[in-house]
Amino acid sequence: MPQGDHIYNCYAPPPQEFVRGEGVYLYTEDGEKYLDFIAGIAVSGLGHSHPALVSTLKDQADKLWHLSNMFRTKDQFKLADKYCEATFADKVFFTNSGAEAVECAIKTARRCQYVEGHEERYEILSLQGAFHGRTIATVTAGGNPKYMEGFGPAMLGYTNLPFGDLDVIKDAINENTAAILMEPVQGEGGIRALPVQFLKDVRKLCDEHGLLLIFDEVQCGAGRTGKLFAHQWANGDADPDIMAVAKGMGGGFPMGACLATERAAAGMVVGTHGSTYGGGPLAMAVGNAVFDELNDPGLLAHVVKVSNFLHQQFQGLKDAHPDIVEDVRGKGLLCGMKLKKKALDVRNLAREHKLLVGNAGDNTLRFVPPLVITEDNVRDAIAVLDKVFTEAKSMPDFEA
Ligand code: PLP
Repeated sequence: MPQGDHIYNCYAPPPQEFVRGEGVYLYTEDGEKYLDFIAGIAVSGLGHSHPALVSTLKDQADKLWHLSNMFRTKDQFKLADKYCEATFADKVFFTNSGAEAVECAIKTARRCQYVEGHEERYEILSLQGAFHGRTIATVTAGGNPKYMEGFGPAMLGYTNLPFGDLDVIKDAINENTAAILMEPVQGEGGIRALPVQFLKDVRKLCDEHGLLLIFDEVQCGAGRTGKLFAHQWANGDADPDIMAVAKGMGGGFPMGACLATERAAAGMVVGTHGSTYGGGPLAMAVGNAVFDELNDPGLLAHVVKVSNFLHQQFQGLKDAHPDIVEDVRGKGLLCGMKLKKKALDVRNLAREHKLLVGNAGDNTLRFVPPLVITEDNVRDAIAVLDKVFTEAKSMPDFEA
């Protein structure tokens, strides 16, 4: 039995091996059933083995796997049309992952400044606690020293600023600033939502200073907050110029995209950027099927309703376990609980009780279940967490 000894030691997976998924459940080889409230880290929004996605992928697998962007891919054009119809965007570049989508967003912003005669504007302002990916540029933008240690000097042209402080951003803008990059709801950084008014204020700031606003909606997009994209809660008053998306838009098939306005994408002409696999036939077939499900007002309304119930239940847990839960956070089905005990240990304890949850920065438990969870699924999770928090009372308090 392979033990994974030849895999990089970048992860420390638990002993459970999941071999099958159905809806909101994962199953091990011997049939043990786990309630999945992490969904491949906010990816499997429509649940596991969604019938429409499975049949779409099988059909496409019989027809054509790969072309590269040397040739036209009709489903790519179709999906780009759908995203542009549903958002601020006029143009789309498809990628294979979130980090690549953010890279494309950064390149698009700098290139826009360049073609508009502002070559000196290359600096990207980002917020502390951000997570934008694991490439050298995106870890630099994220600014987390833990992820940068030992990887050489940070890249030039990035400034990481304290979270949620408009005055600090104002003061940091200078003649080299090209763009402001932020997640409307931070995932990895501890499930922290920026107020809608803050998004509007940053939009205004960008307009006043000729800067591009980039939203990273890799984790908070794809219906997770109850709108197709989280910034859409501002009803058009905080539309970005550029947006990176991934995770949920593929429902488990690896894909991402960078969306941009006509103006922002004006510099991205033939030869400036590319990807061998991005926008390939398999991804695009699945991406279209996912979009059609996600963009259903019924599903988005369900996310709002079930997430309200979940947050209410979480508040109840906080009240019942004041010595464990410090804070309930997040928006829609991107939720967190900042704990007074070590979140990693509590996460592991939940797994022993067959509930899969994640953890995030700031000692937070992360809950990003499939968007299709029911109130009964929430009740089941709450019952487990109640047990887990009771057991966790004997754990030592968390020390930062
Ligand atoms: N941006 C955000 C907000 C993310 O949460 C992530 C991944 O967790 C990324 C970017 C990077 O995405 P990927 O792991 O697909 O490269």
